[in-house]
Amino acid sequence: MSEETSKPLNFIERTVKEDLDSGKTPAIRTRFPPEPNGYLHIGHAKSIWLNFGLAQKFGGKCNLRMDDTNPEKEDEEYVEAIKADVQWLGYQWDGEVHYASDYFEQLYDWAVHLIEAGKAFVCDLNAEEMRTYRGNLTEAGKDSPFRTRSIEENLDLFARMRAGEFADGSRTLRVKIDMASPNINLRDPVIYRIKRATHHQTGDKWCIYPSYDYAHGQGDALEGITHSVCTLEFEVHRPLYDWFINNLPVPAQPHQYEFSRLNVNYTITSKRKLKQLVDEKHVDGWNDPRMPTVSGMRRRGYTPKAINDFCEMAGVTKVEGVVDVGMLEFAIREDLNEISPRAMCVLRPLKVTLTNYPEDQVETMTAPVHPQHEEMGTREMPFCREVFIDQDDFLEEANKQFKRLVLGKRVRLRNSYVIEADEAIKDADGKIIEIRARVIEGTVGNNPEDGVKPKGVIHWVSARDNVDCEVRLYDRLFNDPAPDAGGKNFLDSINPGSLEILSGCKGEIGLAQATLEDRYQFEREGYFVLDSKYSTAEKPVFNRVIGLKDTWEKAGA
Ligand code: ATP
Ligand code: MG
Repeated sequence: MSEETSKPLNFIERTVKEDLDSGKTPAIRTRFPPEPNGYLHIGHAKSIWLNFGLAQKFGGKCNLRMDDTNPEKEDEEYVEAIKADVQWLGYQWDGEVHYASDYFEQLYDWAVHLIEAGKAFVCDLNAEEMRTYRGNLTEAGKDSPFRTRSIEENLDLFARMRAGEFADGSRTLRVKIDMASPNINLRDPVIYRIKRATHHQTGDKWCIYPSYDYAHGQGDALEGITHSVCTLEFEVHRPLYDWFINNLPVPAQPHQYEFSRLNVNYTITSKRKLKQLVDEKHVDGWNDPRMPTVSGMRRRGYTPKAINDFCEMAGVTKVEGVVDVGMLEFAIREDLNEISPRAMCVLRPLKVTLTNYPEDQVETMTAPVHPQHEEMGTREMPFCREVFIDQDDFLEEANKQFKRLVLGKRVRLRNSYVIEADEAIKDADGKIIEIRARVIEGTVGNNPEDGVKPKGVIHWVSARDNVDCEVRLYDRLFNDPAPDAGGKNFLDSINPGSLEILSGCKGEIGLAQATLEDRYQFEREGYFVLDSKYSTAEKPVFNRVIGLKDTWEKAGA
């Protein structure tokens, strides 16, 4: 076991530990069972962290199983994306990828077994009739008139369903449990439907498909899953899960455990709704950096460690709740602060000419790559007569709160000189286009000798040597903390300011070496990474991963 054991165990970990300690389970095997009908999102990341994490922690194995019983909505594109996302999060499944469709033949044989045991029947009720017969929470259901069909007739009809003799939706196979059960899932649930759909794995081999409930537990048993972990909405399905395990000659006895799903405010975690955002082009694909998908978070620059840490922080319970997206942002900042090299990048450049600095002089300024990690070394940047500062860092006049550059006042250029502003040059519309200022001699690494201290520290970039780039600033995709709660249309709360594109930004020259793997802290601005979709060698495009907490001004020089 790893060092993790010192942390208190969550309730599923405790169960696993008890089962191992008591010898009930010699070794554990879990599985992550996505349906390949969309890209994985932050909620799936939680399930991945939990299932693969359990296996890692307790020396077991974790399978990846595509839950592919619904061919119309599924696609090989999603299968590939899911595999890539799981691996990017840092996990490797045991052996080959499994598919529920690997078991279609076995599931068919077991359905025949149920028919032979008098426990399943072919039903001719249509969907509407079935609803009426099913009853509701307060009323018991009624037996289907087809429930008493003979075993021979059921065997014959089921074989002919498979052979394609009947129209889609015209017949189903149902198990006989109890139409009066208070648990509606046990009211003779349908386990096979007729559906002529080409399947991404089995092609046109099948025109009948098993239900999720029928396929899932049997897949668990066939793979030797010991702890089948799922979200709370499946708790009411557990009696059905157990019914199949108890009524079929399965090779193992898996158990289902439920935990509450991860809900994050300002965020949608429904594949159907995320797909709608993509299909209707509200976002730039599944991996749009504003999407809560694993691929979106990857492109945005989030790290696997931060996502896994967040899942751990959010905890594993049976209590339904909503986690603040600020917790995810905290986890991202924590990790990025630790690993990111520092750089300066001016997002909205304003030219400053240093009138007392010789035209042909260039000095090399040196700064640490990371202020807390000396071992990461130093970086160099050229300083000359013209530099860029951010437009927001200058005002002609300002009160004491404004600790940046003001006419007649001093500010320190980060890792360089203290300067004093003399004049703001404006265009015909009155817009400030240039500042004329002076360097205060001898102030690199020292305070001015005359005792007039700078008001603050701002970042800058040489106007002659820099990396011209585009910067994309992201904000939350939704303005509403609960975009799809209570029947609200989530499209109504899309944040129109969730993407801001700035061009002509000026980064320090070292950024020319940036690769897609590098995340930087742009000092005073936040954390940034090259955009894997739009960035090119000629024109780097940086995504803002997340802003800084504004502790800069307190930190000083
Ligand atoms: P969606 O509603 O987004 O389609 P789903 O549950 O139908 O989600 P699956 O592909 O079936 O999607 O999910 C695979 C696994 O991930 C399941 O075990 C499911 O319980 C789990 N999972 C899905 N969403 C969450 C979530 N928000 N929190 C924790 N686990 C989740
Ligand atoms: Mg599902």
